[in-house]
Amino acid sequence: MSGELRDEVRRWCATHVPPDWRREQAGAGHDEFVRFQRWWFNELKGGGYAFPHWPGEWGGGYDLARQAVIFEELARADAPRLVLHFVALHHAAATLFAAGTEQQRARHLPAIRDGEIWCQGFSEPDAGSDLASLRTRAERRGDVYVVNGQKIWASGALDAAWCLLLARTDPSAPKRRGISYLIMDMRAPGVTVRPIRQITGEQHFCEIFLTDVEIPVADRVGAENDGWRIAQSTLNSERGGTMIELAERLAHGFEWLVELAARNGAVDDRLARLASEVQALRLLVRRPLARGHDGAAYGAFASTVKLFYSELLQRMTGYGVELSGLAGQERRPRPLSSGWESGLWLLDYIGSWEWTIPGGTSEIQRNIIGERGLGLPREALS
Ligand SMILES: Cc1cc2nc3c(=O)[nH]c(=O)nc-3n(C[C@H](O)[C@H](O)[C@H](O)COP(=O)(O)OP(=O)(O)OC[C@H]3O[C@@H](n4cnc5c(N)ncnc54)[C@H](O)[C@@H]3O)c2cc1C
Repeated sequence: MSGELRDEVRRWCATHVPPDWRREQAGAGHDEFVRFQRWWFNELKGGGYAFPHWPGEWGGGYDLARQAVIFEELARADAPRLVLHFVALHHAAATLFAAGTEQQRARHLPAIRDGEIWCQGFSEPDAGSDLASLRTRAERRGDVYVVNGQKIWASGALDAAWCLLLARTDPSAPKRRGISYLIMDMRAPGVTVRPIRQITGEQHFCEIFLTDVEIPVADRVGAENDGWRIAQSTLNSERGGTMIELAERLAHGFEWLVELAARNGAVDDRLARLASEVQALRLLVRRPLARGHDGAAYGAFASTVKLFYSELLQRMTGYGVELSGLAGQERRPRPLSSGWESGLWLLDYIGSWEWTIPGGTSEIQRNIIGERGLGLPREALS
């Protein structure tokens, strides 16, 4: 069965993946990047591979093993990744499936399937790792919340139509209890987006300023003040489910490292260790997740996967920098938002550090694994 699927995806890739996309997109501006991503989304959707992880009635229905086959073949063909659609297809969809109302699902999921872009407004200037300290306020006035505050590091916010927003609805409650989960229209009056320019020249992250933004109460996900619990569904998807694709990309990137090592005569124990770690990651992410998406056990598992992926990526790209020597320092334009997979080892190494931060830093993942997974004493909450 998975052999048939593999052949089917491989055939599809052979005729649909543009062979020169990296070269053609190298040095592209933001508009060109967005146009290309939208085009690729529609291609993948046409093939049936844009959201294989969604439930069957919504156009997905592939189990973990078959999702892995699809992502493995896309990685093997070096297909572009849907960077711009990532939050919509994973974080937003997972949240709506776990906690959205029928109306919210009916309104938003078809639009996401048509290519709508979403962003995630969780972090604030003083609320990253300690997310529950967030200060953005949502005051209820009749049928709307009036929202004021600031978000930061929101990936893709410049192009997003909707935002997964956490805001404080009860300032007097203990900080994890007074938060609500809202779906914010990025086109609403009072929403200002300011991109943050990165060292690579990209503008992947944004600040979002919110001044008297009105969000209908009907756009709240779950009960008022229950946003913290629902946010765990989003974060578990970010740390767990998204990793199936990323693990396959990493395995593909490892082949580049093997080629480099072979050219340099550097095939050694270190490479062998990395090879077994890559394989371990691929097996880990495919493990059936019997306990569902919200349990503490799943949370610790998702954190383990995210921690292992991001730190393995660092070790691997770091080794690429060492092996490539001076040539690895070369500067060439690369495709925007290719993440760590630009093929330029130094840039890829720098890019690898990005993955140890979002969705919770490595230190935070270790805390979660220790406390929820191993039952160690809990860190005192501030
Ligand atoms: C590539 C990327 C994409 C992102 N995308 C988004 C997005 O789309 N939406 C969004 O809302 N946010 C996004 N973020 C923000 C990200 O979630 C935060 O940067 C992250 O949670 C860390 O918060 P901080 O930057 O405020 O660091 P801080 O919380 O200030 O942490 C600074 C350092 O202290 C350590 N530390 C803090 N508390 C503890 C503790 N209790 N125990 C041990 N060590 C601790 C941290 O590990 C870190 O090393 C993104 C970040 C990156 C890098």
